[in-house]
Amino acid sequence: MVKPSIIAIDGPSASGKSTLAEQIAQHLGYLYFDTGVMYRAATLAAMQNGIDVHDEEHVSEIAERIVIDVHAPSINDKRKNDVLLDGQDVTWQIIKPEVEANVSYVSKYKRVRDAMTEQQRRIGGRGNVVMVGRDIGTVVFPNADLKIYLDASTEERARRRYEERILRGEKISYQDVLDGMQQRDLVDTSRSIAPLRVAEDARQIKSDGLSIEEVLKQVIDWVEAAG
Ligand code: C5P
Repeated sequence: MVKPSIIAIDGPSASGKSTLAEQIAQHLGYLYFDTGVMYRAATLAAMQNGIDVHDEEHVSEIAERIVIDVHAPSINDKRKNDVLLDGQDVTWQIIKPEVEANVSYVSKYKRVRDAMTEQQRRIGGRGNVVMVGRDIGTVVFPNADLKIYLDASTEERARRRYEERILRGEKISYQDVLDGMQQRDLVDTSRSIAPLRVAEDARQIKSDGLSIEEVLKQVIDWVEAAG
């Protein structure tokens, strides 16, 4: 059987796409590549350089200058990938709340998106990859062999993200997580360049009430049918 080489999984935050993509990648022996890490790394780079995230010009300059790379994990500390920013390991820094609160502003900028898209095509173009993001099936790889759009209600997604954070030992309220998620969804869906939307030829799943096994089984059937 010929397997699809590039699998695109898009959807809003905490829709379950990372967990799904990771399991499909494992099942197929592919690289799991979450493109959100790129926008997070660009945001971190701007913040480390003391640049205001609303300063489009300077943020764009930084995004065009940095080199981000994603590899299979080299350390066994529950990470899903190594994320390198100019060769430095920033895997854990990029998930911090202060980065998360700013990332949607940075990911709106055209020059930032162009720079990140180019780097995503470089890494994803090696093939045998499951890529996760907001615009993989619409912009980054519009010819992906299989496109999936995974969604869930805002409350369900906020509950999942809240539980993840509590498990990591963060002190945060459900309401704050829900507010942050609604804000990020709004910015991601209403931006003018590469907004979050369903690709015409994507297969859609709404994961409320479904177990990860149920979602995975459906997608594996599609992978096999696409081969
Ligand atoms: O998926 P994650 O929550 O890590 O993504 C962080 C942010 O990066 C999103 O809120 C979105 O603004 C941006 N993003 C994007 N395009 C992608 C992946 C992520 O704009 N392909």
